[in-house]
Amino acid sequence: MTTTTKEGSAVVQARRVLVLNSGSSSVKYQLLDMNDRSRLAIGLVERIGEETSRLLHTPLTGGDAETRERTGRIADHAAALKAAAEELAADGLGLDSPELAAIGHRVVHGGLRFTEPTVITDEVLTEIERLVPVAPLHNPANITGIRTAQALRPDLPQVAVFDTAFHTTMPEYAARYAIDVETADAHRIRRYGFHGTSHAYVSRKAAELLGRAPEEVNVIVLHLGNGASASAVAAGRCVETSMGLTPLEGLVMGTRSGDIDPAVTFHLKRVAGMSTDEIDVLLNKKSGLVGLCGDNDMREIRRRIDEGDERAALAFDIYVHRLKKYIGAYSAVLGRVDAVVFTAGVGENSAPVREAAIAGLEELGLVVDAGLNAVRSGEPRLISPNYARVAVAVVPTDEELEIADQTFALVGQAEPAGQQVPVGQVDN
Ligand code: AMP
Repeated sequence: MTTTTKEGSAVVQARRVLVLNSGSSSVKYQLLDMNDRSRLAIGLVERIGEETSRLLHTPLTGGDAETRERTGRIADHAAALKAAAEELAADGLGLDSPELAAIGHRVVHGGLRFTEPTVITDEVLTEIERLVPVAPLHNPANITGIRTAQALRPDLPQVAVFDTAFHTTMPEYAARYAIDVETADAHRIRRYGFHGTSHAYVSRKAAELLGRAPEEVNVIVLHLGNGASASAVAAGRCVETSMGLTPLEGLVMGTRSGDIDPAVTFHLKRVAGMSTDEIDVLLNKKSGLVGLCGDNDMREIRRRIDEGDERAALAFDIYVHRLKKYIGAYSAVLGRVDAVVFTAGVGENSAPVREAAIAGLEELGLVVDAGLNAVRSGEPRLISPNYARVAVAVVPTDEELEIADQTFALVGQAEPAGQQVPVGQVDN
């Protein structure tokens, strides 16, 4: 967007934000226009480093959103971001544009230090590196993404939005494990919680759906994706969450066990002779729904149940039983609950999971209306009947929008300030 000054130079309003979510072998990106918070383009580079790398890019500025695909080896994150930048440039959305205000990065672990979105400096990056031992799977990929983006646009503010930040308001009695304090502190062992950007966004949207301010409501958020976590949010602040030092704790997930007796790990080591790395892979990648029945996609599990598959049915029951335990526990933690909110892939799409998780909880004021629950929609919506004491809702999450909002709030330019460039150089 541009305006023209008296002198004839154009003032470019830098109001675009690029959101980057860098995983170990993938980069997801979205370019947003913060004038109306609309998406200009979305994309994904996956299987980075393999022969079968793939880039999917969808520009959203024209009429029909048509996805372009590139296949063939993309060697590393730098090459992935370069390829994404080329695709964006082909749509007139080049990352060299003066309209780009900032790059917002999803960073998984911010420890106790990062309680807010933070402009990335060398010192901040060093601190994110110091947290690698508590997030060995995630933070290294996030750091690579940041370095790559910095190399691409060294002049631009880069902002880290931490998955853990929303949970830093948890009281000490919820965040501490009951283990030796010196050992815990020496190794920074405590409950950090993850998916915080989603829990923050969804709990705020739920308050909006109820027509009330976030400070007025207590909400239980159930983020049920391939990874899954629950949080108890009192008056807009997180007071408890199910993931812990790492994303392994809590609910049954697609491939993670969630809660187990920690002694299972000693047992596997001493009796089954497994190494620490093997146990890590077992609990993070071969457990949860996939460990229980061989499938981690809830659609496939429901299909198998409809065909009478008993293993799939047991996996579903274990998944739902764990959910119920957390709803009950967090009701007790909050004292008064105004809404239970489902979000993410399973939470937004699986009516049977929502129905089963709430069934039998009438004593807690929780009821689901079968008709409302069956409605498919991309909008926030209530699925409890009018008479229910506690609202049950489905609120689609939008972590990228939340990252863009937080990034822009931190570094976005207030109007009418802007970068002045001669008219001919304006990139639309
Ligand atoms: P997410 O991590 O939020 O992208 O969620 C991914 C998971 O959502 C998948 O593994 C599926 O189990 C689940 N999912 C996605 N679409 C549906 C659907 N239509 N019905 C049931 N489950 C779904």
